[in-house]
Amino acid sequence: MTKVLTKESIPLNKENKNFLIFNELSNKEHEQVVICSDPETELRAIIAIHNTTLGPALGGTRMWNYESEDAAMRDVLRLSRGMTYKSAISGLNLGGGKAVIIGDPHTEKTEALFRSFGRFVDGLGGRYITAEDVGMTEKEMEWIYSETKYVTGIPKALGGSGNPSPVTAYGVYMGVKACAKKAYGSDSLEGKKIALQGAGNVASYFARHASKEGAKLYICDIYEDKAKELAEEVGGELVDPDSIYGLDVDIFTPCALGGVINDDTMDQFKCDIIAGGANNVLDEEDKHGQMLLDKGIIYAPDYVINAGGIINIASELEGYNEERALQNAGNIYNTITDILDYSEEHGMPAHKASNALAEKRIETIGNIKNKYSSKANVSGRLGEVYKRFID
Ligand code: NAD
Repeated sequence: MTKVLTKESIPLNKENKNFLIFNELSNKEHEQVVICSDPETELRAIIAIHNTTLGPALGGTRMWNYESEDAAMRDVLRLSRGMTYKSAISGLNLGGGKAVIIGDPHTEKTEALFRSFGRFVDGLGGRYITAEDVGMTEKEMEWIYSETKYVTGIPKALGGSGNPSPVTAYGVYMGVKACAKKAYGSDSLEGKKIALQGAGNVASYFARHASKEGAKLYICDIYEDKAKELAEEVGGELVDPDSIYGLDVDIFTPCALGGVINDDTMDQFKCDIIAGGANNVLDEEDKHGQMLLDKGIIYAPDYVINAGGIINIASELEGYNEERALQNAGNIYNTITDILDYSEEHGMPAHKASNALAEKRIETIGNIKNKYSSKANVSGRLGEVYKRFID
């Protein structure tokens, strides 16, 4: 049956203190939460499946030293919901899920713990497909993979897609171009001044695309050497991390941390566009999203413009092909254009426009699934399970 993401359709029972977990789940409209406990390996993990209308729930596993199980639960519910929206707006046939492992990623990693976790993932039969997230490395993902095939974003040597950063950066580049088209009537970055925060993986690949097209880059990183090296490579200028927000530039491209659009930085921005790869850049989504709209700054919602990463690992489910992944990430140009048009038409901040379009897709595609079909046309490593879920 089709699920529709509206709070009205879900009976809330906030007052009933005996049903705290179910109330919390129905509040954020989750389907399933799995608590994984294995005292032998000291595994304490939570897997949250938010919505599988479009397909199996895909989302990374995060290992973090949460101070309470409440904090871990809140994080996994929030992050899994975000994945539903990210996949939906990106045109993927995937739902939203996420997992958290409670523990110190520097001191509490063991092979047995991750293999135990892998078995819990396997037990879900493909309803949840995991990937690498904060606090995890290739090594742990390989341990998980030795217990379950429901893993994506695995190393190239194991037949996977490898490092997603080049595809993420290409998506960011195309998203920036879509914003330029909206702001200036042309999507060319030639002569555009871009303040680039961060000189890491995504930022470096992005800088190469933008400089090739003739953009002038102003680059910072808390590791000055890194920023200097990148600036030299792309003919950019090294700038101080504290001055990046107030530069007199056309475009600000955050590719480092979250929360950088906040009460302190808001008044410093002189740019026309904010579009970059970093996650959760709006410190307070509704407040700062609205402030950007009021200031007339075009904003590319972070979870849309940086979706190249998930687009890359999603390609793995159908049999990885880098060219196809890049092509799909290039479509972020059209997605951002649609969002900016919708935002303008409805006078709403871009992140809200994006959420509305994602919900619309879930609803309409959910509806067509009411009709019988003999197949979904997919093959590849996880083709069978993928097909089962998207049918
Ligand atoms: P990275 O670690 O390679 O690069 C981040 C860089 O930011 C580092 O060089 C770091 O020193 C720098 N940095 C940290 N704080 C800074 C500050 N205050 N000022 C300036 N520089 C600072 O990470 P990445 O893989 O390039 O990811 C960058 C961002 O994009 C992150 O927010 C990540 O969550 C997001 N993202 C990445 C991908 C991907 O495929 N790698 C996908 C989606 C989203």
